[in-house]
Amino acid sequence: MMDALALNRAGIPVDILPWKKAVTLWALGRAEVLAVYDGCFVHSPRLTIPLPSVLQCLDGPVSPRNFTRVLPFTRRNLYRRDGGCCAYCGQRVSYSSFTIDHVHPRSLGGATTWENTVSACMPCNSRKGNRKPRAGELEPLHRPFAPRLTHAAPRTLVDKLFYRELPEPWHPHIYWRVLGVEGRAP
Ligand SMILES: [Zn+2]
Repeated sequence: MMDALALNRAGIPVDILPWKKAVTLWALGRAEVLAVYDGCFVHSPRLTIPLPSVLQCLDGPVSPRNFTRVLPFTRRNLYRRDGGCCAYCGQRVSYSSFTIDHVHPRSLGGATTWENTVSACMPCNSRKGNRKPRAGELEPLHRPFAPRLTHAAPRTLVDKLFYRELPEPWHPHIYWRVLGVEGRAP
């Protein structure tokens, strides 16, 4: 069944709810339905109601606690930033076998950050080992960067939405884009 996008009282998208939760909040008068899924209905013994696609909560906090301007740093997001390719040899690498390589090695104080990590295949990672990149060799093909958002947005939702097709009724409410990252999720 389809999930619903939940907006807070200020109209900011804050969560994705399973349809049962969405219907319950609506039935309890704690949320207002702004859009439904065309042709999708929930049937109970006594009534048939359209399936909510976007709903606005009428209670709860107005602003979500954690806003971010940068895509959260996770293994999955790093893989997607690098297009599923090894940053050293450029070959495609599967999600299950890619490794996170520290450009400036961890053993030499390199941080685990967007700017210091790249996706690497196993052979390239072990060839590089703990050495620092030197001019002309062992250098990533592209400079690692932190994917930024066009606007600050709720952190948990940014991450969740990065990996799903957005239903059409959600589009007007998602006011940010992730810059510099193309392609599909692993
Ligand atoms: Zn490689």
